[in-house]
Amino acid sequence: MAEVVPCPFMKKSPSVVYWLGNDLYLNITNRCSNNCYFCFRKFKDGIQGFNLKLRREPSPNEVIKKLQEVINRKNWSEVVFCGFGEPLERLDRVLEVTRWIKKYSGMIVRIDTNGQGCLLNKGRKVVRELKEAGVDKISVSLNAHEKETYNQVCKPTFENAFENVLGFIEKAGKEFDVEITVVTIPEVNIQKVRKIARKLGVGFRIREYIPCFWLKPVPIT
Ligand code: SF4
Repeated sequence: MAEVVPCPFMKKSPSVVYWLGNDLYLNITNRCSNNCYFCFRKFKDGIQGFNLKLRREPSPNEVIKKLQEVINRKNWSEVVFCGFGEPLERLDRVLEVTRWIKKYSGMIVRIDTNGQGCLLNKGRKVVRELKEAGVDKISVSLNAHEKETYNQVCKPTFENAFENVLGFIEKAGKEFDVEITVVTIPEVNIQKVRKIARKLGVGFRIREYIPCFWLKPVPIT
């Protein structure tokens, strides 16, 4: 199959669908209930030639239309909800697009999340709804070994975010292939996060921190 490379002109308009290696990514929102000091979107407007700064949030039909343009162009490994924001800010859109992906391609669907889906969607059975829609994997970025560090590093909007994220991981771990990821920042005790993952019976992955402080932050709209 033909290799898919980012279009050099794509940077001019925001990308809802983009790709890195063998994975297709969906950038459906720029909103997030955290404000991590290391968040890539504070320092860059995109990645690998793709502009991820949305002018507005795409409708499920728009996401699906963009997906249709590229989904058959390569033997992609998986479709990942991961962009310049927290996908579960738009739970219903995630569910709708996931159902379409599972129905028309059967591809593996992963959600990269801050784990605050239950706080963002109070009263909803978030884990069950994701399961029923067909989500296969969930990757939760934890980036702290305890509450104080979480609050310091991730600056969550919600007061009990850390405890809630742990609860989400525990619940999701019973239904999905779940991993905790942690960025290598000095505040975080990596070994303690690894222990949390082991205790909750989920996977664990370390992500390298790429400092961006020499770059001028760009405003998030
Ligand atoms: S959770 Fe992710 S998108 Fe949200 S502020 Fe942190 S790094 Fe950025």
